[in-house]
Amino acid sequence: MIENKGILFVLSGPSGVGKGTVRKEIFNRKNDLKYSISATTRGMRQGEKNGIDYFFKSKDEFQTLIEENKLLEYAKYVDNYYGTPRDYVEEMLAKGHDVFLEIEVQGALQVKKNFPDGVFIFLLPPSLEELKNRIVSRGTETNELVRNRLSEAKKEIRMMDNYDYAVLNDDVNRAVENVQSIIASEHLKRERVEKEYRKILEVELP
Ligand code: 5GP
Repeated sequence: MIENKGILFVLSGPSGVGKGTVRKEIFNRKNDLKYSISATTRGMRQGEKNGIDYFFKSKDEFQTLIEENKLLEYAKYVDNYYGTPRDYVEEMLAKGHDVFLEIEVQGALQVKKNFPDGVFIFLLPPSLEELKNRIVSRGTETNELVRNRLSEAKKEIRMMDNYDYAVLNDDVNRAVENVQSIIASEHLKRERVEKEYRKILEVELP
């Protein structure tokens, strides 16, 4: 049942698809979303700030977060852990705010189990058409490579099955606009606005 709470939006997709770039651009523009800052064990990159880009944690600290059930989801990605702090997300949703997560695919699947009403957006790799042509037009001498690449690409694209929307990231602006349209449309869903309409019906006729 969809209640009168905020909406959880999850942007995910294969590695290297440009999730971070799209997310940053969404937050550069006017929006009413609350961004959930993740916890990670990876080192801080130049220009990053603790508590803004991530909550940077040691492996032990991260382990404690897991044990105390403080994470909504977590995943290991390239030797580091990444996770979504549970309290912030739950508090914001309860207060009626929309929350935005930008996470990799294993984590998104975990969120889906706990928040089936969330809106799951899959960002597709850029130049899908080009990728297909490149793979198909390769010569037989690189047959194995072609097969590997094709099977990798297929695996990535199949992950899309669990999502509500698919956005092609061939152009950042277009991808951002598409994500914004999804957010706007979700707010117009009949199930979400029904309560308000019911109130109109309850008004006594003069
Ligand atoms: P980076 O190290 O480049 O900032 O992020 C690496 C990957 O981790 C990206 O695909 C990003 O979407 C993902 N990521 C960031 N935060 C989280 C999180 O809280 N949970 C999960 N599962 N993945 C995350």
